[in-house]
Amino acid sequence: MPRRRRPSFGGRRRSRRGARPRLPAVPRRSVPLGRRAPAVDARTAPVPRRPARTAVRARREPRRRGVLLPVNFFLDDPDLVATFDRGVPWERVVRLTEGPEADVAETVATWREMLAVAGRYIGTEVASRARAVDAIGVVRDDGRIEMNEPLKANLKGLADLGLIGLPLPREYGGSGLPFTLSAFVIEMLARACPSTMVQFAFYTAPAAMIVRYGTEEQKRRYVPRLARGEIIGAVAMTEPQAGSDVGKVATEATERDGCWTLNGRKQFISAGNGDLVIVLARAVRGSRGLDGLGLFIADRADGNYVVERAEHKFTIRGSPTCALMFDGTKAEPLGRPGDGWHGILSFMNESRVGVGIQGLGIGTAALAAASAYAAERRQMDRPIREHPMVAEMLLDMETSVAGLRALVVEAALLQDTILTRPDAPERHRLRELTPLIKWYGAEEMIRVCRLALQIHGGYGVVTEYDVERHMRDSLILPIYEGTSQIQALMAVRDLMRAILQRPTGLLRGGPSAALAGARFPGAVGRDLAAGRAALIRTLRGLMAGLVRRGGIGLLRGSRQPTDAELAPFLLHAERITETLAHLHVARALAEASARIAEHRPLAARAALRARLVAERNRLTIAAGDGGVFARIARWRSAQR
Ligand SMILES: Cc1cc2nc3c(=O)[nH]c(=O)nc-3n(C[C@H](O)[C@H](O)[C@H](O)COP(=O)(O)OP(=O)(O)OC[C@H]3O[C@@H](n4cnc5c(N)ncnc54)[C@H](O)[C@@H]3O)c2cc1C
Repeated sequence: MPRRRRPSFGGRRRSRRGARPRLPAVPRRSVPLGRRAPAVDARTAPVPRRPARTAVRARREPRRRGVLLPVNFFLDDPDLVATFDRGVPWERVVRLTEGPEADVAETVATWREMLAVAGRYIGTEVASRARAVDAIGVVRDDGRIEMNEPLKANLKGLADLGLIGLPLPREYGGSGLPFTLSAFVIEMLARACPSTMVQFAFYTAPAAMIVRYGTEEQKRRYVPRLARGEIIGAVAMTEPQAGSDVGKVATEATERDGCWTLNGRKQFISAGNGDLVIVLARAVRGSRGLDGLGLFIADRADGNYVVERAEHKFTIRGSPTCALMFDGTKAEPLGRPGDGWHGILSFMNESRVGVGIQGLGIGTAALAAASAYAAERRQMDRPIREHPMVAEMLLDMETSVAGLRALVVEAALLQDTILTRPDAPERHRLRELTPLIKWYGAEEMIRVCRLALQIHGGYGVVTEYDVERHMRDSLILPIYEGTSQIQALMAVRDLMRAILQRPTGLLRGGPSAALAGARFPGAVGRDLAAGRAALIRTLRGLMAGLVRRGGIGLLRGSRQPTDAELAPFLLHAERITETLAHLHVARALAEASARIAEHRPLAARAALRARLVAERNRLTIAAGDGGVFARIARWRSAQR
């Protein structure tokens, strides 16, 4: 009999009955903070969630002042537990990451136990510090820029639990766990405190890039310390003149006698005040656009570069967003100078799914707050959730959150597959889903937060309640890692490429294989088919316009369309993306509801909504551009 591999957590192999994950210092029952051992530093102590001034309190709020009640963001969230228990094909994940001989049941049980431990720490300690993290913001002390103490305490707790290096390889000090599992932790963290989640991501993001592109020496030097949370890094692309237009990056990397130096400025760099930064710079003199870029690692030690400032902002306030200045900064190439765009693109695509998961966490927080509030707040002699308009809002939010989660699970699984087999065909499916998850995770979760705020009435804008913070935090989602408009352009350019390669697809199920193959019984199937048909009609209309402008040669593939020919199509990129995202969310939820029966009513709702969104966008697009191009022409002529 071949020996079965045991599951592992925290970098070491453990059996279920043997060594346990490091347990968090979370009280087993409610304990007054003052009596906890070891003594708690007042600056880092979790702030007990205060009971609201009115009679209305969230269900999970502590009933006594100064008492921290344990809350578990995994075990106390029925949808998250159902997703773990029934929504993930764990056997596939275990085989992918632990090998064919792994004991699936034992591994999954250990992973579940790990999430319960993480959920308890995150739900109790991280969540209770979130207000303080937000209120204090970034510490600016005599020129030094630092994370605030509650945020540092969160990260220390996560490091103590061995949660920092979850997806990093075991040989470099990580836990080597699948992304599908990390996604649960990221979601819970984003629900508890999005600033903490962002900082948490900047241990693994630079480490993963070093693992992928670095030399053996670089991996040994940086990755184990990042995986243990001893140092934190940043990834710097954006410059004052180069935001969405990455091709305008001007920071220069120059080599002399085998040593590289950087000169230039970076803007809006998350965790830019950390210990190192991976910089996208122009490595080939005279190169333009996306060619000739390179990735470089620069250590911050000895004032190697200057952290000029941290921006004052109203969203993810705890996470330092820094302006950096490089002036003769010593740096080492990460990978081949000149291949930088390729490297940064794979980082961005993974981060985009990460931002979608962040949206999921924030949306979950907003939904939980609104559900609790609507159950307790009474107006006109009944809980407000019994007023149909409020009930509809809650149902709508629940559908969006569960739908996004179903799509995230699908993407995480694809991610795990291509991490082990980079050439797997799943690459194309992940490429299709990535901008949709980022777009929906941002735009739809902002809508969810907005509804949560509305459900709170006047209390929604009062800082004593958390929904105003969820609203503020959600507003970063459509901006970083590529704005919503850039996601839409990516999604629609790929779609158009697929249509131009195989125009006959528009006569059948459309250019998306996943949507074309989706078949479900009953109303879900009918609504999805109607939504898909509306999308195909829209695309046919847009393609007909493109061919009118550019000639039939475009369909024969004899040439690519020019920017001017594409413009009327791309004007509607966000509408098409919205339709695509809703269709995929409904499809993913319908597929998940085969295993999670509770999702069936939500899947039906998502399918109907997708159909209505598709129809609305079809009508809007068919109605024409409403004078946009005339306005642009006027601006241009006024400038001449
Ligand atoms: C809190 C925060 C953290 C960040 N962290 C990092 C980080 O760690 N590393 C990093 O490198 N960067 C980071 N960024 C930068 C972020 O990725 C950029 O802000 C983002 O890419 C947008 O660039 P921009 O701000 O220059 O906006 P612009 O690119 O100037 O865009 C302005 C507006 O124009 C729209 N627009 C631009 N081009 C087009 C187009 N072709 N078609 C349609 N619309 C268009 C955009 O969608 C947007 O609405 C961060 C930003 C913030 C605010």
